[in-house]
Amino acid sequence: MGVISPDSETILNTFLTMVKIDSPSGGEEAMCAWLQSQVNNLGLSSTIDSGGNLIVEIPANQCTHGSTLVFSGHMDVVPPCHGIKPSVSGEGDERLVVSDNTTVLGADDKAALAPILEAIRLSIQHNLPRPKTRLIFTTREETFLGGAKDLTDKTLDADFAVTFDHTGRQGTIIQRAPSYVEFNIECRGKSVHAGIMPEKGVNAIVFASKVIDRMNLGRINEETTANIGFITGGKGTNVVPDLATIRGELRSHSEEMLNQQLASIQRILDDEKANMPGVDYNFNHHYEFHRYDIDPASLGVRRVMESAERVQIEPRLTKTNGGSDNNVFMRRGLKGIVMGASFMEPHSLRERVLVSEMNRCGQFVSSLLECFAREPF
Ligand SMILES: [Zn+2]
Repeated sequence: MGVISPDSETILNTFLTMVKIDSPSGGEEAMCAWLQSQVNNLGLSSTIDSGGNLIVEIPANQCTHGSTLVFSGHMDVVPPCHGIKPSVSGEGDERLVVSDNTTVLGADDKAALAPILEAIRLSIQHNLPRPKTRLIFTTREETFLGGAKDLTDKTLDADFAVTFDHTGRQGTIIQRAPSYVEFNIECRGKSVHAGIMPEKGVNAIVFASKVIDRMNLGRINEETTANIGFITGGKGTNVVPDLATIRGELRSHSEEMLNQQLASIQRILDDEKANMPGVDYNFNHHYEFHRYDIDPASLGVRRVMESAERVQIEPRLTKTNGGSDNNVFMRRGLKGIVMGASFMEPHSLRERVLVSEMNRCGQFVSSLLECFAREPF
């Protein structure tokens, strides 16, 4: 039996309505209220948790097992995202939605939320088989997964999660993502007048630059990258600076390599401190999220592959070097994957999405519901 096709005009109109609702990270209330009104109209029960996340429970139908499936996406949009004016160009399947080039489009991640809503509506309206399903629409994903970090254990008590939140066509399946460590090095020297007694000063910027010069940056190996994103310091051209701050990040799919990089930075700091009397530093780091790597042979992933093939979507397992709410889910014991949500060039003024791809996303969600209804997972 084929999957009932979602209505592409409904998906498009839902999408256009959503991108016109401002929802910057931390300011998702209007978006959340609109989504809640939509699921209320379907007769579903929903709650908004203390992190502002919208949680929707959809009862199982024609399903004999008790496993719970999660569909997830985020409600926030990166700046500039106020007063988004979408426009649709082209014909039929090739229709493309773009912004007016003064803002992002917000297809990341509303191009996922619209098809999910439509697939759920179809499932209810046509009384189709589905497992117990929970929608988790998060806040502040773009600011280090803030909303997901606030989710309760009860919300995350499910058996498999499918997060639609990656660039790429339908069929892109992310099964591996890195850990992310942010670091901060405060370099301290001694301020003096640069012209009158420079020999009495200790230049914190010179120390910082020696350290950066020796650091391993860029793509370190296939698993690991490093970057310096900020350097600040100095008070005036006539002052030897007593403070310089370096901020950067490390990403790796290997915890061991991350630790090696942190140890390497530590060694450089100690070496350079020994070479420059009077200098000192504070080196801090913290994890924003942790890596995951889900076995492609696991039941949930296999079921996702079957669901794709059932609607003629070619599944492509791949890895990412970015984070998503799935990093939080996996860390907290909810297995899951991330899937392509059709948007192209996210986080840019050229962000765009094909109407046909959003429609295929809706078909994919419908197929997932029916495949996951068959057996426990
Ligand atoms: Zn996103």
